[in-house]
Amino acid sequence: MTTFSEIRRELAILENYKQLAMITQLFPLLFLLMTPSTDHDVNPISDFIDKDIEYLSEFYKQRHINAEISLEEKETSKALAAEMRKVGYEVTEGVGGYGIVAVMKNGDGPQILYRTDMDALPMQEKSGVDYASQLTTMWNGEKVGTMHSCGHDMHMTTWLGTARALASMKDQWSGTLMFIGQPAEEIGAGARMMLDAGLYERFGVPDYGLGLHCNASLPIGQVATVSGYIMANTEMIDIKIKGVGAHGASPHQSIDPIVVASMIIMEIQTIVSRNIKPIDDAVVTVGAIKGGTKHNIIPDEVTLQLTVRTYKEEVRLMIHKRLREISRGIAIASGLPKDLMPEVIIPENFTPSNYNDPALTANFMTSAAKAIGADNAIYTEPTMGGEDFAWYGKTEHDVPTMMYWLGTVPPEKLEKGENPGLHSPFYYPAVEESIRTGVQVSTQAMLDLMK
Ligand SMILES: [Zn+2]
Ligand SMILES: [Zn+2]
Repeated sequence: MTTFSEIRRELAILENYKQLAMITQLFPLLFLLMTPSTDHDVNPISDFIDKDIEYLSEFYKQRHINAEISLEEKETSKALAAEMRKVGYEVTEGVGGYGIVAVMKNGDGPQILYRTDMDALPMQEKSGVDYASQLTTMWNGEKVGTMHSCGHDMHMTTWLGTARALASMKDQWSGTLMFIGQPAEEIGAGARMMLDAGLYERFGVPDYGLGLHCNASLPIGQVATVSGYIMANTEMIDIKIKGVGAHGASPHQSIDPIVVASMIIMEIQTIVSRNIKPIDDAVVTVGAIKGGTKHNIIPDEVTLQLTVRTYKEEVRLMIHKRLREISRGIAIASGLPKDLMPEVIIPENFTPSNYNDPALTANFMTSAAKAIGADNAIYTEPTMGGEDFAWYGKTEHDVPTMMYWLGTVPPEKLEKGENPGLHSPFYYPAVEESIRTGVQVSTQAMLDLMK
C-alpha cells in the first residue's frame, strides 16, 4: 500500500528528473553560447589563404622554375607587376633597374613598405624537386644554371599572398600599402638602386618597413626575430700586398710578399681578440689568398680577400684602422720601401647592419602570436649574415624597419639533420606550409599597424 507521503516523494523525484532532463537538453546550447568560437570562424586571413593557397603555390613554382639572377630579373618583375595590377594595385616598373613599386591607397593611416627581393643565384640546382629551375645564365664567361637557393621565390610568393589578402579586406584597414619588388639583393646593390631612383621622393616616406627571409633551420609554422640588431654590417675588403720578386732559390734577393701576407693574416687574428671590446661582435675572415704562379718563383704581389662583419659603426671603423696599421707595420718590418706599402681597399658600398626597431618588433610579435600562436613566434639570436634591406631604414628619414625569419623546414627533416642551408644546391622550402605562415603573419602584422 502506498501512503500519501510516499506518493509525494515519488512526485518530487519525478519533478527533479524533469528539471534535470530540461537542463540536459539546454546544456549543449549553453555550452555553445559560453564557448568562444574557433579561430577558423573569426579568422578571415586563414579563410583567405585556404582559398588562395593553390594559386600561390603555382605562382611559387613558376618563380622557382624561372629563377633569374641579380640584375636579370626582367620576367620576374614583369610577372609580379602583372599580379599586383590584377588585384588593384597601382604599379610602377623600372624603379632602380627592374625594381617595382605597387601602391594601394585606402584612406588615412600609416604608409607601410613591404619588401620582397627577386633575384636568384648562379648555381646548378640539385634539389631534385620536379619544379627545379630550368634557366641558365653566363657567369664569369661560362654558362651556368640558376637557382632560387636563398628562397627569394618564397619571399615573392608570401609578399604576393599578403598583398592579395589585404586587397580583399579593405574594410579592415586604412592607410597606404607600398609593396616593393627589389632586384639584386644577392650582390648587395638593389635596395640602394631603388632608393637612389627616388623611392621615397616619388612614392612617399613610409612610416614602417617590413620584410622577411626564409630560414633553413627553423621549422615550418614558426617565425623568429630579434629586437635590435638582427644582421651585420657586411664588407668585402681587399688587401694588396706588394713585394720584390725573385727566383725561388734566391730568397735573399726578394722581399717575399707571400711571407708578408702570411704575417699579416696571423696578425689580423688579434683584431677581434685584442682590439674589440669583448662584449661587441665582430668577424674578420680571410676568405682568399691570391698570389704567385709557380713553385720556384717568388712573386711580387699577393692579394687577400676578406669579409668583415660588425654591428656597430665604431667597431667597423676600428677594424679598418687596425687593418691599415697592421698591414703597413708588417710591410715596414719586412723592409719594404715607402712606394711598396700594402693597399687596404675598402669599398664605400657595403651592406649595413639590420636594426630591428624595438617598438615595431614588439608589435610584430604580438601580431605573430595572434596569427600562429605564441609558441610559434619566438625571439632568436642575431646572425653575422647580411641583408641590404637595412638601407630602407638608413636614409635621413630614419624609417623604423624590421625583418623576420620564416620557418621553411618540416620538423622531421630538422630532426634528421636533413636541412641544407641557404645557398646550398639542395635547399628548398616546404611550399604550402611556408606560404601559409608567411602570409598569415605578414597580413596580421600589417592589419594591426593599420587598424
Ligand atoms: Zn642569399
Ligand atoms: Zn636572401
